[in-house]
Amino acid sequence: MRLMLLLPLTLMMEACASFVGKINVFPVQYDAQLGAEVARNIDSTNAAILMDSAQNAELYAYLYGIRDSILKTGQLEHAQDFTWRLRILNDSTLNAFCTPGGYIYFYTGLMRYLESEDQLAGVMAHEMAHADKRHSTDALTRQFGTDILISLVLGGAQPSMLVQIANGLTHLSYGRSAETESDISSVDWLYKTAYNPVGAAGFFQKMLENGGQEPPQFLSTHPNSDNRVEDMNEHWKSLGGKTGATFEERYQQKLKLIP
Ligand SMILES: [Zn+2]
Repeated sequence: MRLMLLLPLTLMMEACASFVGKINVFPVQYDAQLGAEVARNIDSTNAAILMDSAQNAELYAYLYGIRDSILKTGQLEHAQDFTWRLRILNDSTLNAFCTPGGYIYFYTGLMRYLESEDQLAGVMAHEMAHADKRHSTDALTRQFGTDILISLVLGGAQPSMLVQIANGLTHLSYGRSAETESDISSVDWLYKTAYNPVGAAGFFQKMLENGGQEPPQFLSTHPNSDNRVEDMNEHWKSLGGKTGATFEERYQQKLKLIP
């Protein structure tokens, strides 16, 4: 019933969206449900490398602590209504991503690549911004159509469609303006914590310095435009240029918890 009422509006707004470019017709209250479905699928597909949260309690507590410092800034629009659950996948993939509704995933490959806690916090904030600003449902609706996503939430979609969406999510390209928005949010949010606010820039800088190698998965969905690092630093200066901690030593200690 809800679906039937929604359809004409959906069609109308999709027509508008081609002109304005930034209308997300997927109802926000469905983000968490869609995320839960997708996350269940990602968890089962990656069961062999999914780190158990009870067996790795200290490492999870550490990541949740970083997440909490981001949530506590009061800057997120959906801090309360999204899940913000964390899962660690133990393989060498250089990637992190976040589903709609805030199911966050970090590969240990990326955790080991990062050098300090502010860099991890910066990347985490960037990924959380994709969910909080709803870039993920925005991109998924563009790719699969609103009706398929809604029917998935309402339980009417083919299971194979869910698999396609879950697989697509790890390779989803949000587009340049969404990337910029996430970069800026990462600086804004970390600015309100004890962290060096440009932690994410430190990570991208390292990527640039290692240029010439095969681009890691994170870079294939996060193209390193020439001025990405520069833009984050400029934004940080415009906020007042407050410095913060990198917690490098603590980070290196905690990495030893990865089996
Ligand atoms: Zn991104």
